[in-house]
Amino acid sequence: MTTPRDPRPLTGEPLALDLLNTRWNREGVTQDLLDGTEGLAVWLLSNGLAGDHAADAEVLEHLREARAALRSAVDGGPAQAAPLVDAVLAHGRIRARLTPDGPAEEPEFADASWGPAWLAARNYLELLTRGPERIRTCAGGSCILHFFDTSRNGTRRWCSMAACGNRAKASRHYARSREG
Ligand SMILES: [Zn+2]
Repeated sequence: MTTPRDPRPLTGEPLALDLLNTRWNREGVTQDLLDGTEGLAVWLLSNGLAGDHAADAEVLEHLREARAALRSAVDGGPAQAAPLVDAVLAHGRIRARLTPDGPAEEPEFADASWGPAWLAARNYLELLTRGPERIRTCAGGSCILHFFDTSRNGTRRWCSMAACGNRAKASRHYARSREG
């Protein structure tokens, strides 16, 4: 059995935002990669989590809960979302260790099916530490994709130039040509 390829328009963002990017708009209709365990398998594979975590109904349910919490945090702000994100984080903790290779931190989960959800919530905390202002929603009008702006000047506006960037350019061009 082969896992179908990732159908999403934007991949490769940090885990927390990649989880949000399991929802996207196509011709005005919101698509959802996490509408079943098949899509979950694709998502786990895309994020290098397939070996350690099962693509089953429990993982899916917890991941959808984490996604709702992160959506609320990114779109609404930490004040209202903090208890939701915190509730996900409560299912895991970090164990500090000294290994032969040096210091290490390992996540531990009381219930392994919370693993991917916890990792995504934890990654959101890391992004907040690195630069909360760089957590962005695409400026495309009907676009719901998110990215972490790693450009030098922090000027990235689009999920991708090929999709939303060009659309914006084309509509500006259209407006200008109508004025002229
Ligand atoms: Zn976009």
